Amino acid sequence: MYEPFFLRLRMNKIEHIGIAVSDLEASIPLFEKLLNTQCYKRELVESEGVETAFFRTGESKIELLASSAPEGIIQRFISRKGEGIHHLAFEVDDIEAEIKRLKKEGFEFVREETRSGADNKLVCFLHPRSTNGVLIELVAEKK
Ligand code: ZN
Repeated sequence: MYEPFFLRLRMNKIEHIGIAVSDLEASIPLFEKLLNTQCYKRELVESEGVETAFFRTGESKIELLASSAPEGIIQRFISRKGEGIHHLAFEVDDIEAEIKRLKKEGFEFVREETRSGADNKLVCFLHPRSTNGVLIELVAEKK
């Protein structure tokens, strides 16, 4: 039977969980101990004032986020809410089609355009006011 394209769109697995930390140098060895694995990548996302560190855990990843600027988005998040879970990232196959589908469903975006995120991915964020206070990131492989 014919299935319209939007029914075929899926959020795949949780690609990673982003955790806001205030001291990346202290949190990396902590998560290495917790997950019993090495941090495999550190990356500065200069445009966002964010420093990241990645860990693999099963099919998913943990992304630690620390502020690299005193007024950066992570510092503002920690000042308001404290350290902890910052966002959930879902892997999608076709990020432009997912954005279109979610817009049609009434979801709001922080920015509707995709941009280059950490870990060589295309990313886009849904605004938490339309998702029960949870910041949702869509992640797709760069093609
Ligand atoms: Zn992320």
